[in-house]
Amino acid sequence: MSLVTMNEVFPIAEEKKIAIPAFNVDTLEIAQAVLETIEEENAPSIIAVGQAAIKDGKLEALASIVTLLAGKMKTPVVLHLDHGQNFEQVIKALRAGYSSVMIDGSTLSLADNIAVTKQTLQAAHAVGASVEAELGAILGSEDNISHDDSKPFLVKVQDVVDFTSAVDVDALAVGIGNAHGLYKGRPNLDFGRLREVAEVCPAPLVLHGGSGIPADMIKTAIEIGIRKINVATEVRLSYVKGLNAESRSEDYYTMTNSGKCCVKELVREKIRLFSRR
Ligand SMILES: [Zn+2]
Repeated sequence: MSLVTMNEVFPIAEEKKIAIPAFNVDTLEIAQAVLETIEEENAPSIIAVGQAAIKDGKLEALASIVTLLAGKMKTPVVLHLDHGQNFEQVIKALRAGYSSVMIDGSTLSLADNIAVTKQTLQAAHAVGASVEAELGAILGSEDNISHDDSKPFLVKVQDVVDFTSAVDVDALAVGIGNAHGLYKGRPNLDFGRLREVAEVCPAPLVLHGGSGIPADMIKTAIEIGIRKINVATEVRLSYVKGLNAESRSEDYYTMTNSGKCCVKELVREKIRLFSRR
């Protein structure tokens, strides 16, 4: 089927009280492995393209690949720009056929974040695409997106109220102590803050930095109201792990097939965890 927007998959998540997984893809082979597993599991999902892939010149090529592969599937797939850096990049993604975009104004003042999100909403909604925004910093560093760890990072409840009354976003990513990359030890997620946010936020909530968050914490986050969980680092690492396992074969397909197997295993595990199967 054709690509869908987040607005088509969130009602499914809300009804079942699950989270929709968002998997970052960086290559054709990773996209093949992720999409195959999504179809096998019949799990509506989001395919995200992040800033490292875009820096590598793949914003359009990955869009074409995902659109083509998703077109042959029965399971709904969203093609999403991850951490859109500015309005220009959002426009490039929309022109390339993304059905959903994130605008990351989290490093800006609240007023500037509202302004750029408003601009993004107008453009994206005009072409039928959905929009995710971000409040509060997501810690760690990935794809050149990093935050100064010394600054306050927890999302402020009043900011959520002010932000969502000014802009009608389709999803909101919040910083509750979550981080990009892998965690050193058990993550320190502030579920109290997440509960307060969930009470006042009309938009589905998004948890970034899903790589390495233990199963019990994922379950709690979903119970509180998280409806999208991003997994990027673990997808890439599992592919590399698979390649390395067969590197001595020096055979391209032996290596990439091994990488795809590892990605499929990880994706299946996350789909089942996020849907509490
Ligand atoms: Zn993120």
